[in-house]
Amino acid sequence: MINDFPRVRFAPSPTGYLHVGGLRTALYNYLFAKHNKGKFILRIEDTDRNRYVEGAVENLIAALKWCGLEYDEGPDIGGSFGPYMQSQRLEFYAHHAKDLIEKGYGYYCFCTPERLETLRNEQQKQKLPQAKYDKHCLHLSKEEVEKNLADGIAKVIRLNVEPNQKIIFDDIIRGRVEFDSNNVDDQVLIKSDGYPTYHLANVVDDHLMKITHVVRGEEWLSSTPKHILLYDFFNWEKPEFAHLPLLLNPDRSKLSKRQGDVAVEDYRAKGYLKEALVNFVALLGWNAGDDKEFYYMNELIEKFTLERVNKAGAVFDLDKLNWLNAEHLRKKSDEEILPVLKNEIQNSKLKIKNYEDEYLLKIISAMKERVSFVHEYLSKSPYFFEAPKEYEQSSIAKNWKEETPGQLKKLSDAFEKLNNPVKEDYENALANVAEELKVGKGKLIHPLRLAVSGMSTGPGMFDLIVILGKEETQKRILIAIERINH
Ligand code: GLU
Repeated sequence: MINDFPRVRFAPSPTGYLHVGGLRTALYNYLFAKHNKGKFILRIEDTDRNRYVEGAVENLIAALKWCGLEYDEGPDIGGSFGPYMQSQRLEFYAHHAKDLIEKGYGYYCFCTPERLETLRNEQQKQKLPQAKYDKHCLHLSKEEVEKNLADGIAKVIRLNVEPNQKIIFDDIIRGRVEFDSNNVDDQVLIKSDGYPTYHLANVVDDHLMKITHVVRGEEWLSSTPKHILLYDFFNWEKPEFAHLPLLLNPDRSKLSKRQGDVAVEDYRAKGYLKEALVNFVALLGWNAGDDKEFYYMNELIEKFTLERVNKAGAVFDLDKLNWLNAEHLRKKSDEEILPVLKNEIQNSKLKIKNYEDEYLLKIISAMKERVSFVHEYLSKSPYFFEAPKEYEQSSIAKNWKEETPGQLKKLSDAFEKLNNPVKEDYENALANVAEELKVGKGKLIHPLRLAVSGMSTGPGMFDLIVILGKEETQKRILIAIERINH
């Protein structure tokens, strides 16, 4: 057994942002580790120097932390199996590549890019299913190899794949998977710049870091036979494998940047709650066997098993994410929402930004059922923050009659007489004015809403004016009377 308790890893190549697919992989690893009292490790696979992006690792760590995926070992916190950045582990890969050469499972290849190009073109002409290296350098004599090495000729190290073999492994999600070694290329393990390729570094590190379960996206399934060969060649115990289903757009094409946001950072910037994003991503390929869809992280940890992950591609349904966001927002207490709203206000274009907590808490409570995002407190009820500059035309046409200004003036006068009014006081005052004018209450309520908010919908009318306060309400009534001509 590799280890008594599971040890799993999220092993991203830093691209500059955390893709939602990457978040799903990280989350499933995290949930699996927590559910089984194991360890969750972050390892940065940064051996492709051409892809180096400044700040990428920091962004990735920030996105994982924002989602609450705290790891037990990783580049910034260390651990007993470090370093956790592959670029700092080059000697391990060089050592193990040499070991393979000594055992005959790897060999130096000195072929020039031009020769490889010609080979590829020939194979394409022959319509072979995939281009494969022809093992030319495997047949060099020992002396030739020594001489080339001594002459400093550019070289790579390749995996020596034996033809006509079946490579078989059991995947926790897909069951038994079989590959034919004739379809496996003599993969480059160490590149000419001395850096390892993904395959070698991944296997060496999973072994040295005592990884018990490799949980990763389906796009890595076709690499697994190479990994299996490496484990066998090294005579190392293999971890278990679980390949997660692809993420699809609603049209079932592979989830791509072109059709919408794919970075966790994009969703964060758009105001999605981390709880909602994590909940949503957890359901991309997994369910607990019932129809429950609303989960907090602790419930996910309790319920998650790899056996319940589906094989079929998981469709990324933005409507569902929006719904979950609204649900998670509603379940938050007003006090929890307060700092988030304050942050939105600070980042907004509002002129006045310093509101009393008490005032904001009233708004939060009045609007809670009507918003799906915290920023909608500003966009759906801007009137709590600024007097209306415009009034909804359709509501003017429908509710603002010739007699309205006079009626609203009466209402304002009636409000004037109220001393520290509560909701019922406004209700009674309005009922009295309506009776006096011999009109239905609606004749006053609709134009009143329009005058104070500029809109025709919102929270209860009287809740709205209680929050705005008597003076502000009256002020807005008088301004509207002046400004609205129907
Ligand atoms: N570095 C690979 C990636 O970027 C890791 C795949 C794996 O988990 O083996 O996803």
